[in-house]
Amino acid sequence: MKIKSFICIIVIMLLTGCSTFDTRSKSSTNNELKTSLFYNKLIQGSSPNTAQLNLFFAQMPKGGDLHNHYSGSIYVETYLDWVKTAGYWINKDTLHIDETKTKASISVDQLRSDTKLYRKLLTLWSNKDFQNHYRPQLPPDASFFNTFSYFQTIAKNHRKGLIILRNRAIRENVSYLEIILDPVDYSYPDKSLDEKLEKTDNKKSVSRLLDKLSSKIDADHRFNKKVDKFTKDLEAVHKGIDDDKFMMRYQTCAFRDDAPSLVFSSLYAGFKAAEKSDLLMGVNIVGPENGVTAIRDYTLHMQMFNYLRQKFPDVNRALHAGELTIGMVRPKNLNFHITQAVRIAGAQRIGHGVDIPYEKDAIDLLKEIKEKSVVEICFTSNEFILGVKGQNHPYLLYSAYDVPLVICTDDSGVSRDNLTHEYVLLATRYKPSYKTIKKYVYNSIKYAFCSKSDKTLLINALDARFKKFETQMAAYSDLISK
Ligand SMILES: [Zn+2]
Repeated sequence: MKIKSFICIIVIMLLTGCSTFDTRSKSSTNNELKTSLFYNKLIQGSSPNTAQLNLFFAQMPKGGDLHNHYSGSIYVETYLDWVKTAGYWINKDTLHIDETKTKASISVDQLRSDTKLYRKLLTLWSNKDFQNHYRPQLPPDASFFNTFSYFQTIAKNHRKGLIILRNRAIRENVSYLEIILDPVDYSYPDKSLDEKLEKTDNKKSVSRLLDKLSSKIDADHRFNKKVDKFTKDLEAVHKGIDDDKFMMRYQTCAFRDDAPSLVFSSLYAGFKAAEKSDLLMGVNIVGPENGVTAIRDYTLHMQMFNYLRQKFPDVNRALHAGELTIGMVRPKNLNFHITQAVRIAGAQRIGHGVDIPYEKDAIDLLKEIKEKSVVEICFTSNEFILGVKGQNHPYLLYSAYDVPLVICTDDSGVSRDNLTHEYVLLATRYKPSYKTIKKYVYNSIKYAFCSKSDKTLLINALDARFKKFETQMAAYSDLISK
């Protein structure tokens, strides 16, 4: 290499934040540099080249998506195919699924031939057309969570759905999915304990009450049966999903707007199932964080996680926390959700973490999250549900503090997007370096809940995929800059 071009590459490396020379071949280092420079060109100025960025990120290996919900990731069109196959109907008045025919029932084919009604259904079953024209509609957060009530009846076709999500991931160069499934189908309602749990936030009293509830659940003959069924069903639907290109693992969850005994029994069953299963890697808590019960019982839920993590120390915890912003709840409810998820529940990963600027001792908390946790960033979801985007998004706080981040979709079927789109939003809004983008991709494997040996496989595959991608992008950038 001539001295002039060598110096030129060193200067470019310093400017672009690319890694220093290592044992890799000169050509792959060159390809990484060219890819980085090409990316820099695309994000330049006030109007980045989104068309090229769409192509760039669609081709780029994206590692894993660690925060995505099974039922929210399937597109409406697919759900309608399943409604048809199941022999169900659509109610033309409510646009809900009719499992048995009524006077208002129409077939999926009839629905599809009625353009106006079909388009209306798309707006109710997903976020489609929410912002681009006026019509009477629910507030965005209510509209988002309401979509699930339409397709929940048909969403349980796990086998078909998981294959669809797998194939979609492979097509957009995603090699690992960690999918949040429904809760284990087990509940232990206990009204008298609910009343006591709702009244106390004393740690010792809560622990004593949870001991009582655990003993009752342990003595319930349905408990182990339901847990076993969940893990066995999961093994059955998972068959044929993994191969040398792709891997899928799962989380289960509880609904945070349920009564305390229901939340606890779901969590308990989830922890027990995750302890038994090699596929179920962790437990989460889901649902609108501003729900009446969710707000009232937030600390109690964190105490439940704390209780169960002592009972099941090997089970991972990823928690939706701080999916709130100013105006949604009283200011006092913006002060502690992420704090308690980290400090009480011991969350290894935080879903969203949007209310971070309002948390009490936010600066100390950032430091703690950086040491103990990871934040799952979901731009589209935060923009739609919370109205938080651009310069108002806490990505700027987390990235400035170098908190480990992963880029995720949340509910790509309801939002009608994909992981590629989330990376395009990241690049156009915040213009991180190519090196930082790669760091987020590698984070998505590093902080996954899968086993160490699985991570090694995925990281090795990612290295090879990036080598191929950068070779391709270097050639492409040469071609189009001629
Ligand atoms: Zn989520």
